[in-house]
Amino acid sequence: MTIGYTKTRKVVIVGTGFVGSSYAYALLNQGIVNEIVLIDLDYKRADGEARDLNHGMPFGSPMRIRAGEYEECSDADLVVITAGANQKPGETRLDLASKNAKIMKGIVEQIMEAGFKGILVVASNPVDVLTQVAYDVSGLAKERVIGSGTILDTARFRYLLSEYFQVDSRNVHAYIIGEHGDSELPVWSHVQVGGLPLNVYGRIENYYEDRDMQEIFENVRDAAYHIIERKGATYYGIGMGLARLTKALLYNENSILTVSTLFEGEYGLDGVYLGIPAVVNEFGVREILRLNLSDREQKQLEESSSILKKMVEDIEY
Ligand code: NAD
Repeated sequence: MTIGYTKTRKVVIVGTGFVGSSYAYALLNQGIVNEIVLIDLDYKRADGEARDLNHGMPFGSPMRIRAGEYEECSDADLVVITAGANQKPGETRLDLASKNAKIMKGIVEQIMEAGFKGILVVASNPVDVLTQVAYDVSGLAKERVIGSGTILDTARFRYLLSEYFQVDSRNVHAYIIGEHGDSELPVWSHVQVGGLPLNVYGRIENYYEDRDMQEIFENVRDAAYHIIERKGATYYGIGMGLARLTKALLYNENSILTVSTLFEGEYGLDGVYLGIPAVVNEFGVREILRLNLSDREQKQLEESSSILKKMVEDIEY
């Protein structure tokens, strides 16, 4: 007789730098999985991270954490790629995109050679372009190749709005969509505080200035630059965002998160990975939410899509 049944939740993280290790730390703290395998070009680094994380186990939840190789992907539920080269002085965004696309191709080939059958998540930048590369190389269904998209940007937006209106950020619903990068856009038409549209909530409870809202968006868009200038990299926010996505996927939560997913006609866009609110569950992306965008927002989304399409066309991998 089998008493009880424990579903194994195994995550492989490829790239155990700032982002990969912060994500692993969030998974351990929140007890989301049973098993974490860390893979890095620098095996020693992955091994060091695994050892360090294991020593937090008595304060977290029981799970197995170790460094490993690509064969571990064969029975993984989720593989999350956080590997990537950083921008060198004088290097253009396009040079970096081509370099990281080649790295992504090599990684995804090894994951698939191991017989991987789960869901692939990409967080490396430029995330929308690299997720499209991962989709192309993997041959997996589009639902199962997901980018972290504007998860972090959306969290930044909700946080800054919550600070402005002094309301718990969990009660602020607002989306950043499009490219995770300079061409992203805020969906002002759908911002809600406790269910009230911004212009209604703002009128009843708070007076707000349009220019303050614009400043909030600019701070969201430029947040990475501001943080990198101060501490060299950003990782806690995305680490927690990836943990949130992991929970939605592995626990079949049907959560709505602004992931990067392949558009096939939605919003009149086709063949491009972009950040958009989507329902995610154990099968990956179930559906893209159809927001009733204003004309201006629709145009901005189309512009963001064109920029990404061009970048995908121009990179070599
Ligand atoms: P990092 O330099 O600290 O770590 C990168 C790691 O990748 C290193 O340990 C390196 O050894 C490893 N690596 C490189 N090539 C590899 C390969 N072929 N196979 C296996 N491992 C390899 O960088 P980081 O700060 O952790 O950032 C990682 C990526 O995440 C970057 O592309 C960064 O831009 C991106 N990022 C994304 C978001 C987001 O919102 N999606 C937020 C922050 C950072």
